[in-house]
Amino acid sequence: MEKKEFNSKQEKKEEKIEICYFCNRKFDMNKDDSSHYKYGKYPVCAYCSEFYGFYSD
Ligand SMILES: [Zn+2]
Repeated sequence: MEKKEFNSKQEKKEEKIEICYFCNRKFDMNKDDSSHYKYGKYPVCAYCSEFYGFYSD
């Protein structure tokens, strides 16, 4: 079976720019570890996640 090298070269993650619901700063949702969507739809940046303790809903 031939494995195409194309798939393994996706080291560059797509950026997903969102604006934080709390601080209105732009951030990359795919980059920051603790950034997430509050209630599944409000973007929260990593900073606010840690500051407010929003690690999970
Ligand atoms: Zn924020």
